[in-house]
Amino acid sequence: MTADLDLLLMDYASGALPEGPALAAATKLALDPAARAEMRLLEATGGALFAGVEPEAVSEDLLAATLDRLDGAPAWTGFASPPLDAETRRLLPAPLWRYVPKGLDGLQWERWGNNVREAVLPVADRRYRATLLHVRGGHGVLHHTHEGLEYTVVLSGSFHDETGQYRAGSFQICDGSVRHRPIADKGEDCLCLTVLDAPMHFTGLMGRFINPKVRF
Ligand code: ZN
Repeated sequence: MTADLDLLLMDYASGALPEGPALAAATKLALDPAARAEMRLLEATGGALFAGVEPEAVSEDLLAATLDRLDGAPAWTGFASPPLDAETRRLLPAPLWRYVPKGLDGLQWERWGNNVREAVLPVADRRYRATLLHVRGGHGVLHHTHEGLEYTVVLSGSFHDETGQYRAGSFQICDGSVRHRPIADKGEDCLCLTVLDAPMHFTGLMGRFINPKVRF
């Protein structure tokens, strides 16, 4: 898992990531100072490893460069960060702001039962489905697996599944080898960014009813 995140951050540092995983990586970096430090190290190491390759100019402060890149108007959106309400700014790190121009309340939340709701973010790269997933404490998403990769960044609260516990700032990458049921820990709602590059597939009894309704 860590190795996957390292690779992701290296690709992100090189500017090689497409919008979906780049958004997950940027969100992780914005929330986690240790990941930012690790990325600096990876970039320095990568620079040494690929000394023969034309290097991307490395700024003195990689974080500043990273956030500048995100706060600017990247090719995939073309619009500037909108003014946002304080609650949205408090709950979401800056890389997500451009995707919620009307704030969290302005998103179209789709309910999955009484305790789970999800809002699709307007990523331009249609190969990816990015959502904000809100789960009430003590409740969870149904058992599922993945046809591709699923990136999850915990924005607030925490959840656990068959692979471990994930707190605010945690990053999880799942593929088809992982079948899990994420459950928000009791006592606090959990808000996550999820990015998928292929549909998830619900397993178990309910799967046959729900899978046809899942839009990608
Ligand atoms: Zn999953």
